Amino acid sequence: SSEGNELHEYAFLETIRFSEAFNKLIGRFKVLDETRQEFVSNVSHELKTPLTSMKVLADSLLSQEEVPAELYREFMGDMSEEIERENKIINDLLSLVKMDKTSHDMNIETLDINQIVERILKRLRPIAQKQNIELVFETFRTVEAEVDETKLSLAVSNLVENAIKYNHKNGWVHVSLNADHKFFYLKVADSGMGIPKESQEHIFERFYRVDKSHSREIGGTGLGLAITRSAVVMHRGAIKVYSEEGEGTTFTVRIPLKYVASTN
Ligand code: ADP
Repeated sequence: SSEGNELHEYAFLETIRFSEAFNKLIGRFKVLDETRQEFVSNVSHELKTPLTSMKVLADSLLSQEEVPAELYREFMGDMSEEIERENKIINDLLSLVKMDKTSHDMNIETLDINQIVERILKRLRPIAQKQNIELVFETFRTVEAEVDETKLSLAVSNLVENAIKYNHKNGWVHVSLNADHKFFYLKVADSGMGIPKESQEHIFERFYRVDKSHSREIGGTGLGLAITRSAVVMHRGAIKVYSEEGEGTTFTVRIPLKYVASTN
C-alpha cells in the first residue's frame, strides 16, 4: 500500500538523519579526545624533561668515587634549577586546570584596576631592574570594573613577565590602562625580540614556544599565554598581539567594565 511505502520512506530518512547526527557526534568526541591526548602527552613530556636532567646529574655524581667539592656544588646548583623548573611547570598546570574547572565560578568584585596593575608592577619591578629594563605604568584615568581579581592578576602578570623575559638589557616595558564607557583597555608593550609572524597565531596554545631552547633557558613553560587567554575570555574579553621581529611586541586586552554571566 502507499501508506506502507510512506512509512518505509520515513523510517529510511530518519535512519539516515540519525546516522548523520551520530557520525557528527563521534567526530566531535574524536576531536576532543585528540586534544586531550595531545595535552596529556605534552604534560608528561614537559614534566619528564627536568626529571631526566636531575637523574643524569645524580647518576653522574654517584658514579664517581670521589667528587671534588667544586663539582659537587655545581651539580647540586644545576639540580636545584631543574627542581625550580619542575615546580614552575606544576604551578602553571595547576593554574590552568583551575581556570578550566572553575570557568563558571567567577569571583566577581568591583575593583580598582589601577591598583591591581600597580601591585603587579611593584612585584615585578626588581626583576626588571636586574636587567636594567625600564618598567613604566601610564594611566589615563581611574578604572573601576567587575573582575575576578585572582584571574585578572594572573593574566596581567604573565604579560608583563613575558615583556621582561623576552626583552634586551636596557630595554623598556610600557604598561598602559585606559577605558571608555563600556570597556577597559590594558596594553603591555615591550622593546624586546618580537615574535615571528608565523608564530603569532600559535602563541596562545598550551606549551607553544617560539624558540624551545631559548625559552627553556629563560625559564618558560609555554603555558603563560594560554592561562592569560583563558582568564581574559572568562571575563568576556579579547586579547590581541602586534609584533615585529627585532623591534618588540604589544599585547592589548579589552575587558567589559560590567561582568556578564554566561547564558549557557
Ligand atoms: P613561556 O612560558 O615560554 O613564556 P608563554 O605561553 O607565556 O610561554 O609564551 C609563549 C611563547 O610566546 C614564548 O615561549 C615566547 O616565545 C613568545 N612570547 C610571549 N610573550 C612574548 C614577548 N613579549 N616577546 C617575545 N616573545 C614572546
